[in-house]
Amino acid sequence: MRTAFWLAGTAVLVILTVLSAQERPGSPRPGAPASSAGPALDEIRGEDMAAHLRFLSDDLFEGRAPSTRGGQLAANYLAAQLALLGFAPGAANGSYFQDVPIVESAIDPSFTLSAGQGAPLKYLDDVVAFSGVQEPQVKAAGEIVFVGHGIVAPEYNWNDYAGADMKGRIALIMVNDPPATADEPQLFGGPALTYYGRWTYKYEEAARQGAAGAILIHTNESATYPWQVVQSSWSGTQYSIPAVAGEPALALKAWVTDAAAREIVRRAGRNLDDLRKAALGRGAKPVPLGIQASVAISQTVERKISPNVIGVLKGANAGQAVIYTSHYDHLGMRDAKPGDPPDTDRIYNGAIDNASGLSGMLEIAQSLSRAGSLPARSIYIVFTTAEESGLLGAEYFSTHPALPAGAWAGKINIDSLNMAGRTKDIVLLGAERSTLGGMAAALATERGRVIGPDPEPGRGYFFRSDHFPLAKVGIPALSLSEPTQFAGKDPAFAKKLRDEYNDKDYHQPSDEMRPDWDYAGAVDDMRFLAELGWRIANAPEMPAYNPSEQFARPRANATQ
Ligand SMILES: [Zn+2]
Repeated sequence: MRTAFWLAGTAVLVILTVLSAQERPGSPRPGAPASSAGPALDEIRGEDMAAHLRFLSDDLFEGRAPSTRGGQLAANYLAAQLALLGFAPGAANGSYFQDVPIVESAIDPSFTLSAGQGAPLKYLDDVVAFSGVQEPQVKAAGEIVFVGHGIVAPEYNWNDYAGADMKGRIALIMVNDPPATADEPQLFGGPALTYYGRWTYKYEEAARQGAAGAILIHTNESATYPWQVVQSSWSGTQYSIPAVAGEPALALKAWVTDAAAREIVRRAGRNLDDLRKAALGRGAKPVPLGIQASVAISQTVERKISPNVIGVLKGANAGQAVIYTSHYDHLGMRDAKPGDPPDTDRIYNGAIDNASGLSGMLEIAQSLSRAGSLPARSIYIVFTTAEESGLLGAEYFSTHPALPAGAWAGKINIDSLNMAGRTKDIVLLGAERSTLGGMAAALATERGRVIGPDPEPGRGYFFRSDHFPLAKVGIPALSLSEPTQFAGKDPAFAKKLRDEYNDKDYHQPSDEMRPDWDYAGAVDDMRFLAELGWRIANAPEMPAYNPSEQFARPRANATQ
């Protein structure tokens, strides 16, 4: 009896020892097949997400703005959680914090833009402007050259700058990308917006061409938003990361109204409609307008620092990795306005955007760290800063990555979770662009779900979230977006929900935690994305962009 008890006790001890060796996160187990046991998906729970969410969206964080006490507190909380879960510090300095330098600049509203003969264009009424040169006083002057959509796209055999020397000149550019034609229905992505249509691309290309400045022509139809949005987005404080010495920068980045653009072209003795029409076809040439533009920009320039929070679960092959990102910053607090009642809520809590994503990411981190084995490749979790100020934390990480661009197998971004219950679909922006889409579709089939399409491909959401700076350097990327098929609800429900959030709560102090949220759908999605990341980490081959994709090229060119 005694002996039997002792033997049984030993057996229990042996089993416990085996279990604890298997369950201890990050402990190398030589010889074990790398993918024998995946993430502990059961540990992803709605109550746990609610606990993180409640804390991170509290008023005490004062809206988690970069370089504020509330923002830093959020960063510290996330780093502490990663440490508790057994993630190692992932920043180059050996800590969890990658310091991101942020430049805050605000242009003096006395700004005007002179163009040819006639009255200068007025700030806000006709033109908004900022500078890619981070100095208090910036001057730019040069001949205006109309360059159509301002696109250089070898895969479409398209070059709007062909034959032009843009040094010391100022490009006048149409927004959006050229329309598809009957002969080429897939030209520039057909009805979907390509990155060539985004305003960020226009400025980047003009800088690469050596131009002194670039002026974009706003129209409501081409931008999908009115001039007031351009006015409010580009006046007041602007955020950027420091210019890299030796890299081309535009002294002038401007937007003008359609009427102002017509006036500029008229002063050159031409007609904007004619120029536009001619620019729609392949092979159109840049048109020097023979008139000068000049500006003198006065601006305040302030330099600040805010960290990305980075943790890593080391894989058997630490030279390659998967990356998850989710931004922790939000809009801070708004200034008091005259007439505000004394109890006015001025705190942008950002509960959905993006305390919800953070809570989901922490649950994913937990399930990964408690996997029964090491992943083949490392898994990085990066909580980015300054997403709301222009994807700056992600941008900085993409130029100062923990591993070279070619070492990243794939990237999953999470911004704003679904809090309205279970769904049939999971929408992953970018799925159709790379082999990650096939992996996601296979997993969806196993789970009885489907990968939903981008509900609004014409709005270019793929280019407007934190995964994009990494996609741009060739890393296959997916970004979780809003679902369209709620279980037991008709399709109009999802649209109504989306419209309501966008109209009432998006980027408003009312984006606060609600007691009636249903976490079941978010739990499904986080389990899905934990498993997907794990599979990417263990895939025998490195995932890749489809060869026709614009972003396949930087990776093909990468030295790694
Ligand atoms: Zn967000």
